[in-house]
Amino acid sequence: MSTFTIYIKRKGGEMEAANKAALLLKTYLSSITNTTITGTDVKVVDDGTSPTLLDTDVIVYMVRSVSKSVIAKQGGSVAIAEANEGILGLTDLNKKICEVYFDRMYEGSPKELSGAVYHEAAHILSNMDNAMHKNQDGFLKDAPDYNGSPTTKNQDFMKKHVGKAVKMNGTY
Ligand SMILES: [Zn+2]
Repeated sequence: MSTFTIYIKRKGGEMEAANKAALLLKTYLSSITNTTITGTDVKVVDDGTSPTLLDTDVIVYMVRSVSKSVIAKQGGSVAIAEANEGILGLTDLNKKICEVYFDRMYEGSPKELSGAVYHEAAHILSNMDNAMHKNQDGFLKDAPDYNGSPTTKNQDFMKKHVGKAVKMNGTY
C-alpha cells in the first residue's frame, strides 16, 4: 500500500496554470492504481522547496523556457528541444530529470501543461526514451495531442510502470 505522487516544482511560469494542471493530472492519475500503488496525488511546490520524495515518486521541473533548463544546468543536453519548438518537455533518463517548458504551452494552457507532465512522467517511470512513443497514441505518442484525456492505452502503460523505484532528486 503506497501513494504515488507527482511533484511539479515550479521554477518559472504561472502559478495558476500549475495549480490547474495539477487538478487535471489528479483526475488522470486517479485511475492508474495497481497492486502496489493504492493512491495517487499531485502536488505543486515552489522553487526553494525540496519535497521528500519516495523512491517511487516523480518530480517534474516546470521552467519558463529551455534557456532555464534544469537538465542543461546539470550538464545534460537539450539540443533536441532547442531545435524543435514543438517539444514541450524533456526527460534525461541518465540524470533522472524531467522538465517542461512553460513558454511552449499554448497561451499557458493548463491542459497542455498537465499533458506534458504526464508524458515526461511516463518516460521516467518506464525508463524509455523515444522508444516509448512507438505503438502509443494520445498523450504518449510522438508529437502528442494533449486535448482531451489520456487514452486507455496511455493509462494502461502508466498502470504497468507506476510503483517502480525511480529515485529522483527533488533538490535541483
Ligand atoms: Zn516523449
